[in-house]
Amino acid sequence: MIHSVALRLSLFYLAIIMALSIGFSLVIYRVSADELGKVVQPPKDIVTMVDEPWRSNFVAARLAQSEMSRNNLRGNLIFLNIGTLLLGAIGSYALARRTLQPIEEAFEAQGRFTADASHELRTPLTAMQTSIEVGLRNPNLTLKNSKELLQGTLEEVGKLSRLSNGLLKLTRNAQDMPKKPVSLPDIAKETILQLELAASQKKITLTNTVPKLTVWGDDISLKEVLVILVDNAIKYSGAHTTVTISGRQQGKLAFIMVQDQGQGIKASDTVHIFDRFYRADSSRSRDRSEGYGLGLSIAKKIAEAHGGNIEVKSTPGEGSTFTVKLPLA
Ligand code: ADP
Repeated sequence: MIHSVALRLSLFYLAIIMALSIGFSLVIYRVSADELGKVVQPPKDIVTMVDEPWRSNFVAARLAQSEMSRNNLRGNLIFLNIGTLLLGAIGSYALARRTLQPIEEAFEAQGRFTADASHELRTPLTAMQTSIEVGLRNPNLTLKNSKELLQGTLEEVGKLSRLSNGLLKLTRNAQDMPKKPVSLPDIAKETILQLELAASQKKITLTNTVPKLTVWGDDISLKEVLVILVDNAIKYSGAHTTVTISGRQQGKLAFIMVQDQGQGIKASDTVHIFDRFYRADSSRSRDRSEGYGLGLSIAKKIAEAHGGNIEVKSTPGEGSTFTVKLPLA
């Protein structure tokens, strides 16, 4: 598909190049032919000094010479245009491929995204379909069974709605969000308030030592970044550990860190965890946390839309530190 578009685009480029080349050649030919026509007559100062046969010979010789020059010029211009056509065809195709490369990449990424999303959507849908079918086929379905079935279905619907929310956030254009000064200690405090219950259920202590720093951005999405990081820190840490949100300033950047004492991430996984749908050790992650591997890619997208970035340092068995760098207000 992209190949045929590249061919069409290169033909379009080639048509423009050839139109210009042929146009210039015609102009050059016309101007040169006019100039050659002018020198057919002998110069005015010697016309009076020579007789008629000499003048006719002169004109005939000049006419023949000018015809030869015109033929030469025509040949050269045709040769030049054939060269332009060949080189232009190669150049146009290379240029078309280059122009289409980012589109091709975006196209492939879109395809991968759709395939991944459909795959993730299929799992809860299949689970729901199977349990409903089994329930309907059961002639002795009791009220208790029905309630269990509904409960299971409700859980799957919850997963689907989390997934669709994640997908929506991922496709939303964070660049368009209205930006204003955002206080980092304030959003850290709100994040802790939101996740306190989840942390206390796992006997995890949340600590906030973020100094007074203000960045330029959208408070809701920046808080979302912190919620994703702290939520992960809680999900992937054992009981009686501490999750710390801290911060510092370096030059024109604010650094905000989320550190846990959890299971850590293998070096081979750290390069992929910001990819959509990536879950390190997927079976374990799926069972324990039911994540879709979208959180970190959403966090990364938001950080980048604010002119910042996000990175991780982790030691398996000891814990991880995620650092978000954002431009100061
Ligand atoms: P998920 O919904 O699976 O948590 P994320 O994109 O947030 O998706 O994270 C991707 C993967 O990175 C997780 O599945 C997990 O394996 C790993 N990960 C993220 N945060 C941590 C952490 N604090 N400690 C250990 N592993 C983590």
